[in-house]
Amino acid sequence: MSRTNERVFRMFGVTEGSPEWNDWHWQYRNRIMDAAQLSGVLNLSEKEKTDISACLEDFRMAVTPYYASLIDPNDPCDPIRAQAVPLINEKRTFPWEMADPLGEERFSPVRNIVHRYPDRVLFLVTRCCAMYCRHCTRRRLVGEEDISISNEEIDEAVEYIRRTPEIRDVLVSGGDPLTLSDAGLDLILSKLREIEHVEIIRIGTRIPVTMPMRVTPALLSMLKKHQPIWINTHFNHPKELTNASVEACASIVDAGIPLGNQSVLLRGVNDDAETIKALMLGLTKARVRPYYLYQCDMSKGLQHFRTDVRTGIRIIGELRGNISGFAIPIFAIDTPGGGGKVPMNPEYIVSIDDEKVVMRNYLGHIYEYPQPNGNGHSNLIHK
Ligand SMILES: *Cc1c(COP(=O)(O)O)cnc(C)c1O
Ligand code: SF4
Repeated sequence: MSRTNERVFRMFGVTEGSPEWNDWHWQYRNRIMDAAQLSGVLNLSEKEKTDISACLEDFRMAVTPYYASLIDPNDPCDPIRAQAVPLINEKRTFPWEMADPLGEERFSPVRNIVHRYPDRVLFLVTRCCAMYCRHCTRRRLVGEEDISISNEEIDEAVEYIRRTPEIRDVLVSGGDPLTLSDAGLDLILSKLREIEHVEIIRIGTRIPVTMPMRVTPALLSMLKKHQPIWINTHFNHPKELTNASVEACASIVDAGIPLGNQSVLLRGVNDDAETIKALMLGLTKARVRPYYLYQCDMSKGLQHFRTDVRTGIRIIGELRGNISGFAIPIFAIDTPGGGGKVPMNPEYIVSIDDEKVVMRNYLGHIYEYPQPNGNGHSNLIHK
């Protein structure tokens, strides 16, 4: 995919691939945070600038120069821009929207832990991200200030995991855990690894998409000490699969860390079968396994991103049979109120009873399969 915005390089006085550009600290330090800076790289009207400033009162903006360089300045509907730059629609809130749509606070036994499922917990280790996605579900928490949790809070969460032996899978998330220093993350992972019943550690991060230069050899050798580690990242559009991102993914997989992807279906960004198909094929080519495709959550100010649920079901239906099975994610709704994730599938079962199942294949053709105890099966055997 081609990079489209040369103005970013001019504004920062660097070239692509220069030592500064490839230094994640430089990228992080030079994030675009307000309308004035943004107008250096995009053509913004006065109204757009005022709107952006108004939105930033509720949820801050931070766009790495790298991610900004992917925005086409001449396309107001650019899918990268839609994820990074606020629209005034964010200020419109509706009675059904919630600060905490997934009821995470209700399922939080100690600070920074969400324990909803029997054998796994979410551990929110920071509120800081390389970029603040406009569609973030946890906008109530992230981005307030660039702070990570204190050592005392880490110890409290680790202590909960230690005294809860049914937890075998810890999802380290946030915010973005890879905004922590190598040493900071190493400390947290070491504490988790001391707990015998913690079998796997998962890291949820958007870094390969928004700041791929963070994936350094030093980071990977630190992570390797704590295997088995799984990483899930968050690509939403094929334009995000740049050489830099694909290389970051390759180095993670080469380090022996299985890499999955969780996308969000977003209106105007990726809500059509062609885009999702190109994204999933691009991911598998980069050795990233599509995992979930989420329906957009009901957080405040996200109404304009939400699609009809049938759109997602139809998209999945168009993929099934037409592309490799493992390139198809699970389309799911994280239920409002804290019921967890529920898969939304196209209907393949026409009818099912003791005798047989009647099913529809991906082309819409009808097939039957006899149940082992049904007449169909006894006919086959005893005829
Ligand atoms: C999504 C989620 C998980 C992990 O779910 P998987 O289906 O195992 O990926 C665990 N805990 C919470 C609170 C979650 O939201
Ligand atoms: S990286 Fe994740 S946590 Fe951070 S703003 Fe984006 S969606 Fe939210």
